[in-house]
Amino acid sequence: MSNATYPNSPSQQHDAPRAFPAIDAAVARAADAQAHYGTAPHATRSALLRGLAAALAADAAALVALANDETSLGTTRLTGELVRTAFQLRGFAERVEAGAAAHTIDDAAVPGAPPAGRPRLTRVLAPLGPVAMFSASNFPFAFSVLGGDTASALAAGCTVVVKPHSGHPQLSHRVHALAERVLREQGLPEGVIAFVGQATRDAATYLVGHADISAVAFTGSYQGGVALWRAANARPRPIPFYGELGSINPLVVLPAALADGVDAPATALAASIALGCGQFCTSPGLIVIRDDAEGERFAAALAQALKAQKPHAMLTAAMRQGFEHASARIGAQPGIRTRLAPSSTDGEAPAPRLYETDAASLIANPVLREEMFGPAALLVNVRDADDTLAVLAAVEGSLTVTLWGADTDTPEHRALAAAAQRIAGRVLFGGLPTGVAVCDAQQHGGPWPASTQPQTTSVGYTAIERFLRPVALQDAPQWAIAANTGGIVS
Ligand code: NAP
Repeated sequence: MSNATYPNSPSQQHDAPRAFPAIDAAVARAADAQAHYGTAPHATRSALLRGLAAALAADAAALVALANDETSLGTTRLTGELVRTAFQLRGFAERVEAGAAAHTIDDAAVPGAPPAGRPRLTRVLAPLGPVAMFSASNFPFAFSVLGGDTASALAAGCTVVVKPHSGHPQLSHRVHALAERVLREQGLPEGVIAFVGQATRDAATYLVGHADISAVAFTGSYQGGVALWRAANARPRPIPFYGELGSINPLVVLPAALADGVDAPATALAASIALGCGQFCTSPGLIVIRDDAEGERFAAALAQALKAQKPHAMLTAAMRQGFEHASARIGAQPGIRTRLAPSSTDGEAPAPRLYETDAASLIANPVLREEMFGPAALLVNVRDADDTLAVLAAVEGSLTVTLWGADTDTPEHRALAAAAQRIAGRVLFGGLPTGVAVCDAQQHGGPWPASTQPQTTSVGYTAIERFLRPVALQDAPQWAIAANTGGIVS
């Protein structure tokens, strides 16, 4: 609902100056559309999600070319990302059709006095309302205008106000134009996916504070995320802020993982560290190895394999600057040895870097646990399992922890797995953390600062739950229950 239509709407209580008319207009469109979209049959939601997927796929070649011009991520990677984004939209459509947003819990009335006696209660799920969605820089399709946050909000029956990322403005505009066309074709209000265009940081903060916004989805830096999280909590009516922030993704190499030699695992790890020029939130940034001859051979092989990587240019000049600053800061800390230095081959693209330290230094110095967003990692030498546990205990929340060589059931491996689960949203037993499957069991989050809401995920189909609010209906007539299930019969 917009203020124009409803004079007593919460917008009237907004005490911030009305200095951002473009934001006000976009939020008004989304709020107006919410009343229609949030109560429409769920088939409307799934048809929209499928229509958006088809439109993306139909325009793939032109969109990928534009994305490549703006991000340098390469057409192969970007084509895969577009396919994943369409797959994700269709996946949310399937979940909506299967009743993901229509789930009810029904407790029949029980005659008699409380606590055993009770009225009939039916728990239903209601859309939260318009969601402000901050696109990420590093996934111009999958975490941008029609990415996972938008798809899960639409699946939940929420309209969306998109704040595009300044790193790919033309692509964002074009994808939004495509979404507008699909909305028109399906007879839906344009405010179902509203767009604020390029906005200053003050304007972005104003959007988070707008009284008609009910939740925020964000992927980006710790600094930006915390600034906007504070704004969401400083409102007269604080709202949920689903932020996915920084992560250093520890990877623990146990001796068993090197039983067949060091070269293959080192090569695979180097490729993961340098993938997308290290601009992945799941990039392995902290490699824990044993301080012995085999660990040394692995470290040497990793440095060699990293040196052979040829990263592309970073997403933006500011990001490159941030990487140079972060890696130089790590390299200058006491107790740090540089295994692979920034070199004269650094040009438009940064050459990979590899630093090394010991467990005591890492634990004592929080700077060594900061994210280097780019093609770099820090090796940590540990003497034994206790050292490894101490290192993991010092790491703050992380999207992932990877354990290599913990396949057998031993007390040591159980302790490691428990330590990994304490700090990470996803624990891998082998493999590499880059690459996040979109499915029902996925968990892409983790304790602060990986995520501001560790009980939720920003990838995978349970992401829809972030935008649904449970309501218990007491002794409700059937029509009132049916009004919340969108025509889905379970
Ligand atoms: P970012 O700077 O946090 O920006 C994300 C979004 O928030 C953008 O729309 C940005 O606006 C806005 N924003 C940032 N700071 C703000 C503030 N103080 N007030 C209001 N709005 C603000 O993230 P980024 O541009 O994607 O990357 C910068 C750094 O973030 C990277 O170098 C990296 O360290 C980290 N990063 C981490 C992840 C991850 O998943 N962990 C992903 C991407 C980036 P503008 O468009 O105007 O900048």
